[in-house]
Amino acid sequence: MNATGVFPASYAEARARFLAAADAAGAVLESEAHPLKGPNGEALAIDIARIGPAGAPKLFAMTSGTHGIEGYTGSAVQTRLFEDGIAEALPEDTELVFIHAVNPWGFAHGRRVNEDNVDLNRNFATAPFPENPGYEKLHAALVPPEWTEASRAAARAAQGAFVAEHGFAAFVAALSTGQYTRRDGLFYGGQEPTWSNRTMRGIFEREFVPRDAIAFIDIHTGLGERGAGEVLCTEAPGHPVFELGVKWLGSDLRSTSAGTSVSADVRGTMKGALIDRLSADGKPRQTMAISIEYGTVAADRVGAALQADNWLYQHGDPKTPLGREIAREMRAAFLIDEADWAATIHEQAARHVGNALKGLATV
Ligand SMILES: [Zn+2]
Repeated sequence: MNATGVFPASYAEARARFLAAADAAGAVLESEAHPLKGPNGEALAIDIARIGPAGAPKLFAMTSGTHGIEGYTGSAVQTRLFEDGIAEALPEDTELVFIHAVNPWGFAHGRRVNEDNVDLNRNFATAPFPENPGYEKLHAALVPPEWTEASRAAARAAQGAFVAEHGFAAFVAALSTGQYTRRDGLFYGGQEPTWSNRTMRGIFEREFVPRDAIAFIDIHTGLGERGAGEVLCTEAPGHPVFELGVKWLGSDLRSTSAGTSVSADVRGTMKGALIDRLSADGKPRQTMAISIEYGTVAADRVGAALQADNWLYQHGDPKTPLGREIAREMRAAFLIDEADWAATIHEQAARHVGNALKGLATV
């Protein structure tokens, strides 16, 4: 099934590797059980592994699988960091908290969205939700009732026409910044906080809010050149969170809100919600909160995979040959299961983590 791959074949296998590596590193483990099961009846959970003094003034935190299937990469990064001895590299005043599979249902089902067809990284917006009239123009073509050569051609034509009329940047914004009106559509942000959102907000209160200094990294894949890891922040240059990121990780930090990132300026992100929560209580903290976005395949292939996956769960059947073909293409769009790609993502992650820990040690 995955004979030549270097990454796990399933969420359950990734979870088992993570838990084993965390345990071997001496981590204390807890789980937040998800109410649903995986496609093979397996249990789903957000797992939390911690090393270091409980409640230490400084926190080094990393999340994986905010976008379900992207969790193969984040899980592998977390697992490798344990295996490579991050426990020994932690200063005495710092606690490590790794949060595995923020969206475990999507991870297990091979989807980017969660059990509510919600893009979790758009779900942290609060009402009144932002409008997205550009998405409304694209929706019917992007979510056809049938998945045929003709419907795919119509979707490509509609996207081409939108680009011709409004430009490519407007197309990317319309498609991917999030929409809050079409629950059967793409990049749907939802109308209320989903299970992962509510669970993560609880984790923010317990694990992040009490600290004096925080370095937080959320791992993603699917945007950018193959193997390139873009470090990005929701905040713009001048904001303390962005400036601390530059100070600790270097000047190639990109900003989604300033338009310098491979990602559009999306609304309702988990990282943005964390930053808002931490700034809401007025407590002075040193906070660095960034994502690493690893490139995989061309953007139009990723977009086509997302459309097919969305059709599959709205109108198709995952347990058919076509369903399995769409699932394989989703995995190929968000994970390059090859040794050279794995090596470069681990090398980049180790460098950024090392710099984040050095930065934490200076405050
Ligand atoms: Zn992502």
